[in-house]
Amino acid sequence: MGHLEGRTALVTGASRGIGKEIARKLAEEGAAVLCVATNEGLLREVSGEIAAKGGKAAYAIADVSRAAEAEGVIEKAVKDWGRLDVLVNNAGITRDNLLMRMKDEEWDRVLEVNLKGAFLMCRAVARPMMKQRGGRIVNVSSVVGRIGNPGQANYSASKGGLIAMTKSIAKELGSRGITANAVCPGFIDTEMTQKMTEEQKKLLFGNIPLGRFGKPADVAAVVAFLAGPGADFITGQEIVVVGGLTM
Ligand code: NAP
Repeated sequence: MGHLEGRTALVTGASRGIGKEIARKLAEEGAAVLCVATNEGLLREVSGEIAAKGGKAAYAIADVSRAAEAEGVIEKAVKDWGRLDVLVNNAGITRDNLLMRMKDEEWDRVLEVNLKGAFLMCRAVARPMMKQRGGRIVNVSSVVGRIGNPGQANYSASKGGLIAMTKSIAKELGSRGITANAVCPGFIDTEMTQKMTEEQKKLLFGNIPLGRFGKPADVAAVVAFLAGPGADFITGQEIVVVGGLTM
């Protein structure tokens, strides 16, 4: 029996990459998982794959940056399952550009999805989690939100903001038995990082003591731990998953 047996979870950005792996892992540990993103075809595939392995999964389409859609998926989870134990805010985008060339739209959209989207989801889940006197919020930030990165003023601001927001939520909701933590991955091999040049990858690789890039499963394992009983006394933390890139 997995350590999340009987729990319910919602994962945003579950259609591919890290979010897909988080959804799979939480289901493997026994949770019923609502997979959320905007691409219906991919979401159907992910929840089908989970079900084929004997897991419990459903999907819902939502752009997390739109309040009504974010609230709608939280409502769906609570209505269908009676409670929502775990919220994983993983949906995220990049629109990289050097500071002087960065367009307003590039700044706005990244902040809207990565930071406002997570805020909207957290705000919507607060009431049901407070009512049930417990819950787990895991926000997928980035190491870049701690150390910055050239060409990513918008992305690093969104991820740094997400860490700070997580800590405020941890302080606000802790007395109700709700924990909030941020996971900060480094380079993880997904579609998002395929945009990097070979030169950028080589430079980064040399600075990773564990001598490899991360896999979505490396992040999913940490999220599953934070969602389970082993993390009962952990809140407001930034867990860095970077193979030792930063110490
Ligand atoms: P990815 O492969 O590009 O996947 C991003 C996911 O977010 C997709 O499922 C996408 O689904 C969803 N998404 C994007 N905009 C959305 C929106 N408005 N509403 C709902 N869902 C939305 O990226 P990834 O590498 O797996 O990254 C996942 C998370 O980890 C992100 O927050 C990212 O910033 C963070 N992260 C990644 C790395 C890395 O090296 N890969 C490192 C540090 C942090 P649809 O397209 O179907 O909407």
